[in-house]
Amino acid sequence: MRQRKLLWHIFPAFLTAILLCIAAVTWYATASIQDFFVHHVGADLTARAGLVRARVERLLADPPELRAFCLQVGRESLTRITVISPDGTVLADSSETPETMENHLQRPEIVTAFAGDTGQSLRFSKTLNEFMLYTAIPIRRAHPGGVATVEAVLRLAVPVTAIDRALAGIQVRIGIGSIVVVAIAGLLVLLLSRRISRPLEAMQHNAEDFARGDFSRKMQTSLPDSASLEVVSLAASMDRMAEMLDDRITTIETHRQQLDTVFSSMIEAVIAIDNDERVIGINAAAARLLAVDAGEAPGRLLQAVVRNIDLQVRIGRVLASGEPVEEEMIFRDREGDKLLHVRIVSLHDGRAKEGGALAVINDVTKLRRLETVRRDFVANVSHELRTPITSIRGYVETLLDGALDNREVAIPFLETVLRQSERLNAIIDDLLALSRIEQESRAGGIDLREGPLVAVLEAAVQTCRIEAEKAGVGLAVDCPAGILATMNDTLLEQAIVNLVVNAIRYSRRDDVVTISAAVRADAEGKPQVAIAVRDTGCGIAPQHLPRLFERFYRSDQARSRTEGGTGLGLAIVKHIVQAHDGTIDVRSQEGIGSEFIITLKGRMA
Ligand code: ADP
Repeated sequence: MRQRKLLWHIFPAFLTAILLCIAAVTWYATASIQDFFVHHVGADLTARAGLVRARVERLLADPPELRAFCLQVGRESLTRITVISPDGTVLADSSETPETMENHLQRPEIVTAFAGDTGQSLRFSKTLNEFMLYTAIPIRRAHPGGVATVEAVLRLAVPVTAIDRALAGIQVRIGIGSIVVVAIAGLLVLLLSRRISRPLEAMQHNAEDFARGDFSRKMQTSLPDSASLEVVSLAASMDRMAEMLDDRITTIETHRQQLDTVFSSMIEAVIAIDNDERVIGINAAAARLLAVDAGEAPGRLLQAVVRNIDLQVRIGRVLASGEPVEEEMIFRDREGDKLLHVRIVSLHDGRAKEGGALAVINDVTKLRRLETVRRDFVANVSHELRTPITSIRGYVETLLDGALDNREVAIPFLETVLRQSERLNAIIDDLLALSRIEQESRAGGIDLREGPLVAVLEAAVQTCRIEAEKAGVGLAVDCPAGILATMNDTLLEQAIVNLVVNAIRYSRRDDVVTISAAVRADAEGKPQVAIAVRDTGCGIAPQHLPRLFERFYRSDQARSRTEGGTGLGLAIVKHIVQAHDGTIDVRSQEGIGSEFIITLKGRMA
C-alpha cells in the first residue's frame, strides 16, 4: 500500500468539516433571509392593501370603476391587485381580464381571508408564470346589529424573483468566501502538518544514525522547538532505548574482545566447526600449525581449509555421534611431517542442542622426538657401559678360574681390567659433565665473564701437552693477546681440550694441530670471536657431519674405542657452546683434515 504524507491524512478531513460547515451556514442563512424577506414583503403588501382597502370597498358597487382603479394602482405600485367576490369570481384584476380568470375560492390566501384573517401564500402563478407572494385581506361590511360579513377579498401580489436574485448574490458571495476559507484552511493544514512532521523527520534521521550504530546524538536535543509533548516524550524514550542499546553493544563488544584475546593467545590450536562442517572460528595457533589464513577460514568448509583426511573423518564422527575423540595423527605439510595430538568434543549451545565440534590440537612432534632421544640415550648408555663391564667380568672370571696363578698372563689381564675401568670412569665423567652443563645452563645460565682468550687457549693446550707428546703431534697456538671473549673460563677450556684431544687422536705422527683465534664481524656487524681447532688428520666423511655432535655418535666406531673415545666429547662441546650463546661448525675432508670452529661473543681490547 502506498503511504501518504501526513498532509493528505489531515487535509481531506479538514476540508470535509469546512465544507459541511459552509453548507450548513449557507442553508441556514438562505432560509433565514428568505423568511425575513417574505415576512417583510408580506408586511409591506398588507400595509399597501390597508391603504387601498377603503377605496376598493367603496368601488365594489361599480365594477368598471373598480377595474380601472385596480389597473391604475397596480401599474403605479408595480403590484398585482385582484378583488374576489365571495363566490370566488374575480371582480377586478390589474394584470388580467377578470372574465378569463378561473374561480379563486380555493386559493389558500383567499380561504384564510374569507375566514376573516389576513391570508398569505407564496407560490407559482400559472397566470403570470413566476413565483408570487400573495397577501389577501377581507373587505368587511358592517350590518346593523354589529354583525360584519366579508363582502369581498382584496388580494395584492408581487413577484418574488427579487428574493431569488438577492439570494443568488448572497450565495455567490458565500461561494467566494468558501474558496477563500478552503485556501486558508489548506495553508493552515500545511503549516500544521509541517509542524507535526518536522520533529518526526528529525527523529527519523536520528533513528537512522542509531541504526548505523552511532548513538552520539540525542534525539531530544535534535528536535525543533515546535515538537509536541507526545513527540518529546517519545524522543526521550528512544534516547533511553539508544542508551541501553549502546550499553549492551559495548558490553557484547568487550566480551567478544576478551574472548578473542583468550582465543588468540592460547598456545593450543583451536578450531570450532558448525554442524555443516563449516569453520566458525580458528585461533592464531591453529592457523600457524595448519598453515591456513585465520582471517579467511571462517564460513568456509573444513575440507577446503584443512586438507587432512584423518582430521575431517574424526570431526565428522564427533558431529554424528557427539562422542569425544582423542587421537594422535600425522599432518603433512611443506615443512615435513608433524605429529599432532587432537582432542575433539562436540559443541553445545545454551539450549543443550549440538552446535558443532571443537578441536584442540597440540603439536607433539618435538615432545615425541625428545622421548625417542631419551629412550635412545638410555639404550646407548647401557650399551656403552656394558662393553667395558662385560670385558672386565670376562677377564676377572678367567683370572679366578686359575689365570691368577700364572703371573705372566695375569698381569696383562689385570692391565686390561684397569684400562676398561678407566674407560668406564671416563664415560661416567663425561656423562656427569654433560648433565652438569645441561643443568646449569637450564637453571638460569652459567656465569659468563669477559676475559682474555689467549689464557684459556694456553691452559687447554697445556692440559693436552702430554697426550700430544705421546702421539708425536705438535700443538700450535695462534691467538692475538688483545682478544677478549665473554665466557666461562673452565667450561670453554674443557671444550677446547675436547676438540684438541680429538684432533690429536685422529692425527698422524708429526702432524701439527693448530688452535687459532680471530675477531670478525657477524651478520649484523657486531664483533665476535672465532676459535678454530684445525688438524691434518684422517678427516670425517660428509655423511657423518650432521650427526657428529649427537651423544655417542662415532664416525668410526672401532677407532674411537681403541683411541679411548667415549663418543661424548663433541656433545659436551656443543652444550658448552650453547650455554655461551655461541655456535659450533665443522668443516672436514677425508684424508685431508678437519676444522672445528667455535664462535662466541667477544671483541678486540
Ligand atoms: P670420541 O670420544 O669418540 O672422540 P667425540 O664426540 O669427541 O667422541 O667424537 C665423535 C666422533 O667424531 C668420533 O668418534 C670421531 O669419529 C669423529 N671425530 C671427532 N673429531 C675428529 C677429528 N678431529 N678428526 C676426525 N674425526 C673426528
